[in-house]
Amino acid sequence: MRLSRYFLPVLKENPSEAQIVSHRLMLRAGMIKQQSAGIYSWLPLGFKVLRKIENIVHQEQIRAGHIPMQMPTLQSADLWRESGRYDGYGEEMLRMQDRHGRDMLFSPTAEELFTDVFRAHVNSYKDLPLTLYQIQWKFRDEIRPRFGVMRGREFYMKDGYNFDLTKEDALHAYNRHLVSYLRTYERMGLQAIPMRADSGPIGGDDTHEFLVLAETGESEVFYDREITDLTFGEREIDYNSVEQCQAVLEEFTSRYARTDETHDEALFNEVPEERRCVARGIEVGQIFYFGTKYSSALGATVQGPDGKPTEVHMGSHGIGVSRLLGAIIEASHDDNGIIWPEGVTPFHVGIVNLKQGDEEADAACEALYNSFTAVGLEPLYDDRKERAGGKFATMDLIGLPWRITVGPRGLKNGVVELTCRRTGESEEMTPEQAVAKII
Ligand code: ATP
Ligand code: MG
Ligand code: MG
Ligand code: MG
Repeated sequence: MRLSRYFLPVLKENPSEAQIVSHRLMLRAGMIKQQSAGIYSWLPLGFKVLRKIENIVHQEQIRAGHIPMQMPTLQSADLWRESGRYDGYGEEMLRMQDRHGRDMLFSPTAEELFTDVFRAHVNSYKDLPLTLYQIQWKFRDEIRPRFGVMRGREFYMKDGYNFDLTKEDALHAYNRHLVSYLRTYERMGLQAIPMRADSGPIGGDDTHEFLVLAETGESEVFYDREITDLTFGEREIDYNSVEQCQAVLEEFTSRYARTDETHDEALFNEVPEERRCVARGIEVGQIFYFGTKYSSALGATVQGPDGKPTEVHMGSHGIGVSRLLGAIIEASHDDNGIIWPEGVTPFHVGIVNLKQGDEEADAACEALYNSFTAVGLEPLYDDRKERAGGKFATMDLIGLPWRITVGPRGLKNGVVELTCRRTGESEEMTPEQAVAKII
């Protein structure tokens, strides 16, 4: 992409409405524009990162054997009356009527819809296990939308639903989700710690939230410092193996880690004092096992091995896709702007031409541009006739991992400058060496 032809409306001034750094940087970097409280337009740069995050979520869900599909955002209230949640859900649900006076709602979550599809089409235990999921816009009329995309009213969520014959099978699905979530967050450069949590309006006994530690997080968390030493890393996992998935769950839940809703002071005090941490966290996902709560309310049964109708065991599993942008920026920035982890960066490398219009500098930039696109990487070439200082500030703000600076003076000696956004270190080298280092 050439910056002269892109749409990147960066802001020079700090927007006064933004209270936390991720919100400020997303506005300044021209990623989002607020349209009304908690509702945003996703400008090209923000949209690009959203898509990257979404792709990682898809890849890891499909790897775990889960099946993508898409549900409508608007639902009929009748299904929610059937499950018994329509009245109880409260004011977070945006309710509306169509022209015929039928009660509709904008989906805040989709247990009912998925259970409805399941009951319409699945009849036998032989079709299980089954996990269906979607990545779709949700609406919750949050009382205090704030912090930009962190607590929006309209937000993008991955929500998955497992259908199993037995409790054991459903707990395996739960563990599979836990593993796939650990992988997902690590690919985005995040440490998200599974913590025992409260199930809220979804219901059920078993639930973990995934929290990214950050001072601006809205949840208070209590944990054993040792939990932060655990990483999933490159290990291979067989998602069909009950033992392997169970072992990961046991490992990652072996230390005290709870949100304030389930915090138990007496248990916490058993952790050696120097390891007891009280901090704040951002909830970036949650997994639930809730048994037959919805299958029983909505009559989702399959014919069991004994020929009798059996209510399926279910769980639901969510990732805050749009909230993740804020969480990643909270975890990875400096005074000059965002520092994207490689896995989600909107462009892989920025090319800054110090003297646009200089024949040699232009040609060197074009050549670099072509070498990256030839191997499938996306460069962002700042080809505008701007001061170098302004170009550097923009590149720092939007946080690409690498910057190559090209100018007539360096080119006389056959070199360009390669700068790493995270360390700030710059090194002179030939254009070929710079390309080799990035790809
Ligand atoms: P919170 O406690 O932050 O209100 P929640 O527990 O109500 O979140 P869930 O029902 O567990 O949310 O939804 C799954 C995920 O969707 C959450 O873990 C979070 O990452 C994301 N999410 C929930 N509400 C919002 C929101 N208003 N804006 C952005 N993301 C959200
Ligand atoms: Mg909520
Ligand atoms: Mg919550
Ligand atoms: Mg939650």
